[in-house]
Amino acid sequence: MINEAMYGYGVESSVIREIFTYANERKAQIGADKVFDFSLGNPSIPAPDAVRASIERSLAEVPPAELHGYTPAPGLPAAREAVASSLNRRFGCSYTAQDVFMTVGAAASVSCAVHAVTTPGDEIIVIAPYFPEYRVWIETAGAVCVEVPADPETFQLDPVAVERAITPRTAAVIVDSPNNPTGAVYTRATLEALAAVLEKENARRTEGLGHPQPVVLISDEPYRELTYGAEVPWVPSIYEHTVVCYSYSKSLSLPGERVGWVLVPQVSEGARRVMAAVAGSARALGFVCAPALFQRVVVDCVDEPVNVEAYARNRETLTKALSSFGYTYVEPDGAFYLWVRALEPDAEAFCERARAYELLPVPSNSFGVTGWVRVGYCVAPEVIERSLPAWQRLAQDYGVCAK
Ligand code: PLP
Repeated sequence: MINEAMYGYGVESSVIREIFTYANERKAQIGADKVFDFSLGNPSIPAPDAVRASIERSLAEVPPAELHGYTPAPGLPAAREAVASSLNRRFGCSYTAQDVFMTVGAAASVSCAVHAVTTPGDEIIVIAPYFPEYRVWIETAGAVCVEVPADPETFQLDPVAVERAITPRTAAVIVDSPNNPTGAVYTRATLEALAAVLEKENARRTEGLGHPQPVVLISDEPYRELTYGAEVPWVPSIYEHTVVCYSYSKSLSLPGERVGWVLVPQVSEGARRVMAAVAGSARALGFVCAPALFQRVVVDCVDEPVNVEAYARNRETLTKALSSFGYTYVEPDGAFYLWVRALEPDAEAFCERARAYELLPVPSNSFGVTGWVRVGYCVAPEVIERSLPAWQRLAQDYGVCAK
């Protein structure tokens, strides 16, 4: 018998991937240079040279049977130690390898974290707009996805709205900063206000009211290093019950290699239980043993600087042009997405009209809000340059830009 929920996830697939498939078909029909695909979050800059050097060194020096063999389920000790030491240097902490579990990318990190801290019927709060896969991972764990709108102007998370949404069944809140899809970076003050809300709830729980566990903050951070000057606060230093989920998909441009980690600082018996449950989730979901070759790349490249200049230039070109054409957007402080207000209330209808100009952004509906589109500017600069006349004609079509 087919599992109907899984069947549904399979046949619905993701809107982002649908647009990406359409873009490729259209490119084959009319030429790749005439289609402006802003759908996918695939980094446009190549992995740094240090990645290639690391792979070549492993191929030359590590015996093949060992190089391509299983690693311990939580990862190679050297990779876990490298991650812990790097975090200690950068954020003044004292983590050890025991705090780090190597994963198959951030998708596995977040789904393991979600499974680890929920029982069926629990609620997980997400900040809308949010990465659409959160809902899939939450529902697969038997939990309920509770959407809380971000501040409608700044797209910072709204701690008061989170407080209103907390119930005795709230197991976790997922935050994602720098944010996909808005590019917002949550400020220290916002995160401190959120921590205060969660601490207040935890205090009620220690008095025997509601959920027996503290609210866990799942901090999903695959874009941590992709910022344009904004501080990205280290969340575990603001709120104790934080689980950090990370991957090298964006920072090292390695999305196809599937490597990342979960950090659970082992500061209490409760945290040790959470880490054991993360390991159990990885086992249950079939995610153990992150790719062995790329765990070795992590050892060598953990502190490799991230080249944000290319994205910064794209951001500059795109925002300057779009604002001169009459579009409004959220000034992105991080990641590589521009959150643009659709020129009509229905974002899907707007995207349909944009298609006539071969412009392919993603409508906001799939991120849990209406009236916006996400423009991924992780593309070659020529794609942005060539797309500008089309953006202008679209704005003229809506009468927001003079002909
Ligand atoms: N979380 C967010 C916010 C993302 O944007 C993505 C990918 O785009 C992921 C998780 C999944 O990352 P990975 O490709 O490392 O699994």
